[in-house]
Amino acid sequence: MEAKHVAVYAATGCRGCENTILDIGFQVNSPGRLARFVFWPYLLGSRLEDLEKTAEIDVTFFTGAIRTEEDEIAARRLREKSKIVVSFGACAAFGGMPGLLNLQQESDPPAVSFDEAAPLPGLRDRVDSLHQIVDVDYFVPGCSPPVNYTWTILQSLVCQSSSSARMSFAASRLPQRIARSVLSGVLPPAGSVFAGERGVCASCGRLKEEKSFTSLKRIDRFEPDPLRCLLEQGLLCQGIATREGCGGLCTGAGVACRGCFGKAEAIYDAGAKMVSAIASTFDTTDAGEMEKIAEMFVDLAGAFYRYTAPAECALLHPPASKQEAGRESEAAEGAAGA
Ligand code: SF4
Ligand code: SF4
Ligand code: SF4
Repeated sequence: MEAKHVAVYAATGCRGCENTILDIGFQVNSPGRLARFVFWPYLLGSRLEDLEKTAEIDVTFFTGAIRTEEDEIAARRLREKSKIVVSFGACAAFGGMPGLLNLQQESDPPAVSFDEAAPLPGLRDRVDSLHQIVDVDYFVPGCSPPVNYTWTILQSLVCQSSSSARMSFAASRLPQRIARSVLSGVLPPAGSVFAGERGVCASCGRLKEEKSFTSLKRIDRFEPDPLRCLLEQGLLCQGIATREGCGGLCTGAGVACRGCFGKAEAIYDAGAKMVSAIASTFDTTDAGEMEKIAEMFVDLAGAFYRYTAPAECALLHPPASKQEAGRESEAAEGAAGA
């Protein structure tokens, strides 16, 4: 079988997603044998200009959010050149933590001040996820995506193999329609998310007792009961609203879910779901008491859309469609060239 041509690109992020792909290489050597990495700035020192000379790419794994002008140019060029584009990790899939910028109000002071003499990349006014800029074929959420899903998507898109036990393990956590494709060696439907559909709560083993939410606790000042639901103990766990698939990596370790898989399939807006879930457990009808509890929550938008503000926050202006973004970009390029 001819080796697939694979590209990996990091836009604005922390490079953790790329390291997840590298972790695969250390655990098993199949991707290295069956794929030819033809464009990967981090590993191969490739430059965007090199894309002109690069043969057609079979699969691009795009990590990071679209924050700089260069991120956007890279996204468009890689899309043009690639048969399949995968939005890999929370930053690419939802805008990730760089996307918190979109919650900034005009009246807020700048979060950082730059040394004007330092060479900075051209910054865009807002942060976008990859699919807000170009068409995306598949999504792998997570910050960073778990190795099992990374392995599964590499196997199904790049190696086209379904032989390993690890593959079956990961597929067992995928929605049936994707798992069937993966295990039978055919490409899953375009737009598939390599993760579960329900909320993290569905696969969390912690005991829920329908207890009231009476006070907000901080993990650095509180040792939670190892068996009981963290939300019911006062930790801001977002498992109710977050897509399952990680197997409760954080909750299993006693840390509240922070939503890095994005919203669960049936949820319209994760922040609204969390507010309603918590408010419905307030054990009082007294407005003053309620206000006191509500005051414990600082920066709710930052907490509930920590990874997803650009793509999934219904409170923000709807993002520009890809077509509109494309027209704006063409107009800007035309103006620059005039
Ligand atoms: S999703 Fe997480 S690990 Fe990946 S680039 Fe963004 S911050 Fe880093
Ligand atoms: S809220 Fe969190 S701790 Fe509670 S059941 Fe859901 S995922 Fe588990
Ligand atoms: S528990 Fe939540 S924050 Fe932790 S890995 Fe899973 S989805 Fe991400």
